[in-house]
Amino acid sequence: MSPSPLFYQAGPALPEVSHAQGVYLWDDSGKQYLDGCSGAIACNLGHGRSDIRDAMLAQFDRVAFTYRTQFESAPAVALAETLVSLTHGQLEKVFFVSSGSEAVESALKLARQYFVARDEPQRRRFVSLRPSYHGSTLGALGVTGYEPLEAPFADIVHGSLKVPGPDFYRHGDVDDACHVVSVLEETRTIIEAAGPETIIAFVLEPVGGASTGARLLDRQYLEGIRALCDEFGCLLILDEVLTGIGRTGAWFAYQHYGVTPDLLATAKGLGAGYYPVGAMLARADIVDTVMASGGFQHGHTYAGNPLACATGLAVIEAMQRERMLDNVAARGHELKKGLLSLKARFPWVGDVRGLGLLWGVELVADAMTKTPFPAEQNRFARITALAKEEGLLIYPRRTLNGVAGDHFLVTPPLTIDAADTAELLARLERAMCRFDAELN
Ligand code: PLP
Repeated sequence: MSPSPLFYQAGPALPEVSHAQGVYLWDDSGKQYLDGCSGAIACNLGHGRSDIRDAMLAQFDRVAFTYRTQFESAPAVALAETLVSLTHGQLEKVFFVSSGSEAVESALKLARQYFVARDEPQRRRFVSLRPSYHGSTLGALGVTGYEPLEAPFADIVHGSLKVPGPDFYRHGDVDDACHVVSVLEETRTIIEAAGPETIIAFVLEPVGGASTGARLLDRQYLEGIRALCDEFGCLLILDEVLTGIGRTGAWFAYQHYGVTPDLLATAKGLGAGYYPVGAMLARADIVDTVMASGGFQHGHTYAGNPLACATGLAVIEAMQRERMLDNVAARGHELKKGLLSLKARFPWVGDVRGLGLLWGVELVADAMTKTPFPAEQNRFARITALAKEEGLLIYPRRTLNGVAGDHFLVTPPLTIDAADTAELLARLERAMCRFDAELN
């Protein structure tokens, strides 16, 4: 067989997928995998759902594609209204896209255009965290704080001002509240030195995703950032590409903290792996200002097409019908308990953290000193490979320049039941036992 022309990643050849149902996938050799990471934290409803297929086919038979400036479509309006209602009307305007990067990119551009329209063109930079991940297009990469991805493009990307976020695992002897105060003070100092009048917006993931292994922010920190934004007259953009649409047990993760953003990006779980669809939500007055200045200079061909929006609508309706947020809370509790007991058993598990069905496990060479494994050992890849051999998919990330450890995410579909949660933990335990044996 000639090699495939695809070049997504270096490394060993991948198994060919055959089919999938619920939380399981099978490859063409018949091997079964439990989808412990929802693909890339996207297949939030599991695989092969007939209700989503029926809704998609019904829309396909009516009309699959129309261009957003030629026709209004009922599914687009209904999905926009639904998303607004999930924010309890705090964000009243919606702009559809096809991916998370596009959703972030749209928020960055709307925020900039807002200040241009308000005659504040000197606001030309964003503030974001290091580490963070906001997408792979050049604008979204500019606010991303993750060196391996940034390095080749550093000279051509308009990079944001990077500030440290709170790290509740490695903050040393101080308590959490003092740590947050000092992180906020450092942030203020960096911004004051750069000139607050040049800042368009803060861009934050309310719970870090792949870049940080589900590192949590907290209410005190987010309230502090909200206050800084208000004081400096800039906007708060929350990147809920990964956390939005129920992943953390609330429709949007910011709802755990009671801090409202001005703009919000979401994607992954909205199409739940059935169709690419993302959205940028914004405060009405921001949109009104931009529209009054001649309109939003932005857009993508497939944005808001009827098939995408009918899919997103079917996903949210299924989640509401099945009270899926309750399942996230119950299964999240079981997963947390299971992961913590694995942490107690294996000394190289440094930290287990997360919310709902978004859990990160950080691996360290020495749990006392929290020293990461040497980066070149690629421990994150090894544990992922062992899990795959045991029939479990987890989402890996390498160590961050020896500062934070290798980690992986456990983020099963929000539909997972108690038996499959136990099965996930059993497969993970077998992989971890083998990893442990290799270390000793
Ligand atoms: N923002 C966050 C927080 C993400 O996790 C991702 C993807 O992993 C993105 C943005 C980019 O989304 P996409 O891969 O759909 O472009």
